[in-house]
Amino acid sequence: MSLDWLDEELRKIEEQGLLRKLREMETPQGAVIELDGQKVVNFCSNDYLGLASDPRLANAARAAALRWGTGSGSSRLIAGNLRVLCDLERELARFKGTEAALVYTSGYHANLGIIPTLAGKGDVVFSDALNHASVIDGCRLAGARTEIYNHCDPEHLDKRLAKVGKDARKIVVTESLFSMEGDLAPLPEILEVSRKHGAALVVDDAHATGVLGAEGKGGLEYFGVGGGEVDVLMGTLGKALGGSGAFLCGSARLTDYLVNRSRTFIFTTGPSPLMAATALEALRLVREEPWRREKALAGAERVRSAMDVMGIPTGGSRAAIVPAIIGDPVLTMRACESLLEKGIYVQGIRPPTVPAGSSRLRMTFSALHTEKQVNELIEALSEVLNGRE
Ligand code: PMP
Repeated sequence: MSLDWLDEELRKIEEQGLLRKLREMETPQGAVIELDGQKVVNFCSNDYLGLASDPRLANAARAAALRWGTGSGSSRLIAGNLRVLCDLERELARFKGTEAALVYTSGYHANLGIIPTLAGKGDVVFSDALNHASVIDGCRLAGARTEIYNHCDPEHLDKRLAKVGKDARKIVVTESLFSMEGDLAPLPEILEVSRKHGAALVVDDAHATGVLGAEGKGGLEYFGVGGGEVDVLMGTLGKALGGSGAFLCGSARLTDYLVNRSRTFIFTTGPSPLMAATALEALRLVREEPWRREKALAGAERVRSAMDVMGIPTGGSRAAIVPAIIGDPVLTMRACESLLEKGIYVQGIRPPTVPAGSSRLRMTFSALHTEKQVNELIEALSEVLNGRE
């Protein structure tokens, strides 16, 4: 059989403690979920505002299905440009403070769509060492030279940029809030360095959108940087906004160009009208229910403080993502299973999602967690990670 080698490869992955298995969920997103038949408190989904199972989003999806049908039917450039997608783009541009926006079917598509469109052979992309896989793959696909700069280090970025000739096109890509670290890129400094060298700045705001900033607009608002000041602002609809899909915000000339050149926009069916309608409803709730982000951030802060007291390092975590870095993948999964036995679900994160030697439990906090649930997590962490058992 031609795929017999798969058994050997799977065995090797398992030997390294890196075998991944899907766990099956019987319930929607929520603070309590049923996982492989067990009721557990969920501390690892990106549904930060608790909107993924909000009936108002479900109703918006239902109304959109009745009004627009269930599918876009073709590429948006052919016969798939339903007005609800354009409504969402206008609303996203307003929300992020940019001239225009363009929606994509996922964040992975968005990053794969933007980087190769803006950089090619002879150009240079400067990418933070801990950028998401979709950014890494976007760089690979671009065929440009990729220079990795040290994580959240504008001085190192400055040095790297200085080495490249003035005439080359340069693009800097960073997450605003890093997905696996929960720490923040120093955006004002990165913006300043990028400008100094004439580089375009692309910011992936996937985990900050809806969570950070006084109005939940994301990482730029948190730092007091206007949406129009960066060249490309990417965000996703599948995390705090409780649905699926993603967007790029920027100037109208940027979106005009992407419509003509971005292959992951052009050669795919337009996002579903249900996705657009739920995102529009979620944006309304981000505006009207600020308590959601405040509660998610407060839960994270309480656990971070407790971990500080216990001496468990949380890196530079600042927002609703708190990693407990363990290092070894086998020990990480053991800790994950011990927590599960206590009814708490925090998935272990291993390479290649994080660099080798930095396997971790990545905890995330939601508006739906009660104080009691957060206390139970702290208690369980102290038992599992402090070796009390
Ligand atoms: N960027 C970052 C920083 C992410 O964490 C993710 C998803 N984990 C993506 C992009 C991809 O987004 P999506 O899940 O919508 O494909």
